[in-house]
Amino acid sequence: MKRKIGNGYIRHNATLLWTTVCVRRMLCNQTYLGHVVYHKYEQEPVGGNDKKILDPDEWKIVKNMHEPLVSQKDFDKAQKRLQSNKKVKRVYPKHCLSGMVECGTCGHNMRHANSGRPKYECAFTYFNINHKHDRNSIIDVDIEAAVLSALQKEFDLKAGLESIYEERKERQQGKIHDAQKRLKEMERSLDQLYEDQQESFESYKAGMMEKDTFIQQKQIYEQLEERLNEKIRMQKEAVEKLEDEADAMPNGLSVSMGEIQADHLTRELTEAFVDKVLVWPGQKIEIRWKFRK
Ligand SMILES: [Zn+2]
Repeated sequence: MKRKIGNGYIRHNATLLWTTVCVRRMLCNQTYLGHVVYHKYEQEPVGGNDKKILDPDEWKIVKNMHEPLVSQKDFDKAQKRLQSNKKVKRVYPKHCLSGMVECGTCGHNMRHANSGRPKYECAFTYFNINHKHDRNSIIDVDIEAAVLSALQKEFDLKAGLESIYEERKERQQGKIHDAQKRLKEMERSLDQLYEDQQESFESYKAGMMEKDTFIQQKQIYEQLEERLNEKIRMQKEAVEKLEDEADAMPNGLSVSMGEIQADHLTRELTEAFVDKVLVWPGQKIEIRWKFRK
């Protein structure tokens, strides 16, 4: 019968076996040198129950209080060995798509693994027996290439679109200019009409025109004025409509994509353009762009 008990010993058929944990503890514990170590912890805060382990430099050691089980030489040698055995954990820089890759099957974020061939994989399927789906992973090289080439296509497309937008905007500005010119002409005609009316009235007042003729003319002027005013109102509306249309036209892109020449995927690029990359088993990929949202 195997059972784990206390300080790293394993009782096996009533025999105590040394475990690596136990040996390591012994090699690190100065008590085995015959020293007594105290003041390893400090109560904090005052009156609290929490203990803080102090830096080994602060420990108080009374040497040679009892027979050593391990010699100082062996102890130092073991310490040195343990230090060099400590694995230096490599720190990997954040992958350029980290946090953006999602499993298309279950919707969970795919984790990035640096071991072996660096890849993204859906870990959800390992942990949830009841919701298992096909193994879903994609290596960095493949996902980077897919995103980069799709992005390049978008760049080219946008560059083309931008020049189309530019052209359309210019044409619209031309239309607005023409419509405003016509409006000005109408307004000038209206001024002219007022002047003519004034002249007609002056002639009548000066006795150079019959009353009937004056009234007849006045009616014609008033009809013309009404018609012209209506035309001006409509022309003003037309100008406003053209201006609104121009405002509603796409204003290029916040980042001019046409200028970007990317030969590899960077965090800067993905953060600017990539919203999400969905991955399905069998390397099927769907990219959601930030600028399409
Ligand atoms: Zn999944």
